[in-house]
Amino acid sequence: MVNKKAYLLGSKRSSIRELFEYGRRRAAEVGKDKICDFSLGNPSVPAPEELKEAYKRLLELPPLEVHGYTSAVGCDELREALARNISETFGFSAKARDFYVTCGAAAALTSVLGALTVDCNTEFIALAPFFPEYRCFAETSGAKLKVVEADEKDFQIDFEKLSKLINNNTQGVIVNSPNNPSGVVYTESTIKRLASLLTERSAEYGKPIYIISDEPYRELVYGGVTVPFIPKYYSNTVICYSYSKKLSVPGERIGYVFVPQNAENADELFNAVAGTARAYGYVCAPSLIQRVIAACVDIKPDLTVYEKNRDILYEGLTKMGYFCARPDGAFYLFVRTPENDGNSFSERAKRKDLLVVPGAGFGCPGFIRISYCVDTDVCLRSLPIFKELIEEYCR
Ligand code: PLP
Repeated sequence: MVNKKAYLLGSKRSSIRELFEYGRRRAAEVGKDKICDFSLGNPSVPAPEELKEAYKRLLELPPLEVHGYTSAVGCDELREALARNISETFGFSAKARDFYVTCGAAAALTSVLGALTVDCNTEFIALAPFFPEYRCFAETSGAKLKVVEADEKDFQIDFEKLSKLINNNTQGVIVNSPNNPSGVVYTESTIKRLASLLTERSAEYGKPIYIISDEPYRELVYGGVTVPFIPKYYSNTVICYSYSKKLSVPGERIGYVFVPQNAENADELFNAVAGTARAYGYVCAPSLIQRVIAACVDIKPDLTVYEKNRDILYEGLTKMGYFCARPDGAFYLFVRTPENDGNSFSERAKRKDLLVVPGAGFGCPGFIRISYCVDTDVCLRSLPIFKELIEEYCR
């Protein structure tokens, strides 16, 4: 006998992973240059040179210093660097003790959702389109995930629908901006409106409703767009961060939870995050990468290729008649499909060796996601296929 829920989660791959594995098999059959694989958010830009240098330098240190356990919450050196980075970048007070170092944003989210799940009535709210793993993270904590339908015209927040979903059991709203899959950045006015709604509703229920801000794409923005730093607008914010995308190190599994001191019950919440992480075995993230990141926290990513890819695809597809909200960040394009059925479009595209993820898992069935963290050549090769596809619908 095994745990049924765990079995179901483990035996059924996510649609993204399914497509990615298919792409690998297909590339082995027909050649990599014959397929356009936009399935996975695996950064194509190499990790910065400084990171490589930091690895080399650190590997010269006594082995126990780089390969031994750090403290469960992460090494002091990294936590101090994180606090300095947040204070300097955002002019926001942060202390080393506010950070719990994790294996990426996934472990950070799981730890925060677990920490905030008080009983089986606990609810979290996701704003469509949303990262599909939120459901599994919330439900594994024993909570429910409620979803606010997308405002498909610009993918900001539909406040009327959000307001209706908030109730006495709501413990948090998960915010992801720049967004996977839409690439949209929430404007300052959206964040202010969200802060004001949650302040009002927290007062009504006499308890904090937290914003859980999932920020793996915080620095991936184009054209000088600013991503509002949410703790400045709403004190009951907890940040889940990852270096996977910014520094192109998704396989190194490194990120953190930041619980600002001015959040309500900050110490209690931090300890509950640490407790959940402990229960899942998420203690002492890999030591070497912790120290590498400590030396590289201030590096800015090179976005040249992503921005070029975004422009090629956004301009190319909209000219053909596809609709998508202009993405200011991340490396995704979320496109409405001509027949309003992302599954069917994705299947048709797959037959032409064009791999795009159906939008249903993100809460928008009439869309597909294009992950453009690929070589520019793939974007250029894909345009005639997208054209062929839209023309098939017009016949
Ligand atoms: N949140 C979002 C929105 C993501 O897109 C991803 C990964 O693609 C994650 C969380 C998980 O990130 P990590 O690789 O740091 O666990």
